[in-house]
Amino acid sequence: MADQKEQKPQAFVTEITPRSEDFSRWYLDVVRRAELADYTPVKGCMAIRPYGYAIWELIQQGLDRRFKETGHVNAYFPLFIPESLLMREAEHVEGFAPQVAWVTRGGDEDLEERLVIRPTSEVIIGTMYSKWIKSWRDLPVLINQWANVVRWEKVTRPFLRTTEFLWQEGHTAHETEAEAQDETMRILAIYKEFAETELAMPVIDGQKSDSEKFAGASRTYSIEALMGDGRALQAGTSHNLGQNFAKAFEIQFQGRDKTLQHAWTTSWGVSTRLIGGVIMTHGDDSGLILPPRIAPYQVVIVPIARGNWQETVLPRARAIQTDLMAQGIRVMLDDRDAYTPGWKFAEWEMRGVPLRLEIGPKDIEKSQVLLARRDTREKLPTPMEGLTGQIGSLLGTIQKNLFERAVQFRQERTKRVSTYDEFKALMEGRPGFVIAGWCGSAECEAQIKAETQATLRNIPFGSERVQGSCVKCGRAAEGEAWFAKAY
Ligand SMILES: [Zn+2]
Repeated sequence: MADQKEQKPQAFVTEITPRSEDFSRWYLDVVRRAELADYTPVKGCMAIRPYGYAIWELIQQGLDRRFKETGHVNAYFPLFIPESLLMREAEHVEGFAPQVAWVTRGGDEDLEERLVIRPTSEVIIGTMYSKWIKSWRDLPVLINQWANVVRWEKVTRPFLRTTEFLWQEGHTAHETEAEAQDETMRILAIYKEFAETELAMPVIDGQKSDSEKFAGASRTYSIEALMGDGRALQAGTSHNLGQNFAKAFEIQFQGRDKTLQHAWTTSWGVSTRLIGGVIMTHGDDSGLILPPRIAPYQVVIVPIARGNWQETVLPRARAIQTDLMAQGIRVMLDDRDAYTPGWKFAEWEMRGVPLRLEIGPKDIEKSQVLLARRDTREKLPTPMEGLTGQIGSLLGTIQKNLFERAVQFRQERTKRVSTYDEFKALMEGRPGFVIAGWCGSAECEAQIKAETQATLRNIPFGSERVQGSCVKCGRAAEGEAWFAKAY
């Protein structure tokens, strides 16, 4: 009987393909069934539903606070970019041209100059900076923008790659090269700390190879996470743009020595892709598992509907909700009459709520509740006395456990190899990160990609000190690089 009781709620949620069976189907099922996002009649564009958007708002708040604490401010720039402006930075145009959407008509008139819908905003922001920056006294400029961008994608997947997506893009201008480099590193460190603290998603930070760097950048750095299927996800990038954009857009200032100089600029961004990262880092066969710090509901209270529960159980459930909310805990009280408790258990489990609180007439007699953890599935009878404090600390424990679990998974799926045969064998089997020596040549990198589908994710800091030889050509390695099949 006990078994049956455990099994039954599962049967209500039938539309999720098991993760172990087909990861990619599982992902799409979770996105749709958990009501994070949905397809729209616009090809490649998703609607982010309220539950998914609530996660995005928590991500925004966490990042926005960190940006402001480090001296950045928000502003807003136009969606459209005149064609002539886009053409000014040659590498940038070449990199983005295949992906831009054009506006050629306004109302019933053809435009004299075509407009691009921003794929990113270096161009328009650089143009404005050239007006705003005149003297070294105007520097640094530390601006961030929360916006949508459009990149014409052929193959799309909700949150991971869509034609229109939401992100933040920081654009800064500095007096010296060293300051621009410091800024690039400061932001990368913020991204790493944010991903690990808030999303419980461990990441590798390092430098991109030249062939993977941002179009027009001098150097690109990234954070890379490992998803549940062993593929890597680039979760954020920070670019040192050198003086490339300053020269193309005439961002010039009078220096302390009265000479006219070009500014040193950076740009950096993370997007709604992070939500895809959270889904694929933590989820299981039953659906989503959300880290408490970004869960729209950290606790769901399910009253057990027996007898006159509306007079007895419901008021207690409401009182608990009020207490928890007073402590800043995000709580949903699911008092819907039309659904059974069993259905609700399965539903909120599938939607990834970290902690479920069950309360019924018997619990009230015993002055306790039943807490069920989403991450471990443990059920914990917990006294009413001191409940709020207990829940607060459990949420912290869950957050920590999810991070540690993901770190452990990454460790198991990260291998260091010295021969190309080992490299290929690993990439054909259960993929993950493979660490290997690399000579620094784009040719070796391209051959590895063509032969194994693995891309060079990044070169972690300090890895240049490692002695060894290139896994592909056998020449002396510049350092160790992390490779993986990637999203
Ligand atoms: Zn090589």
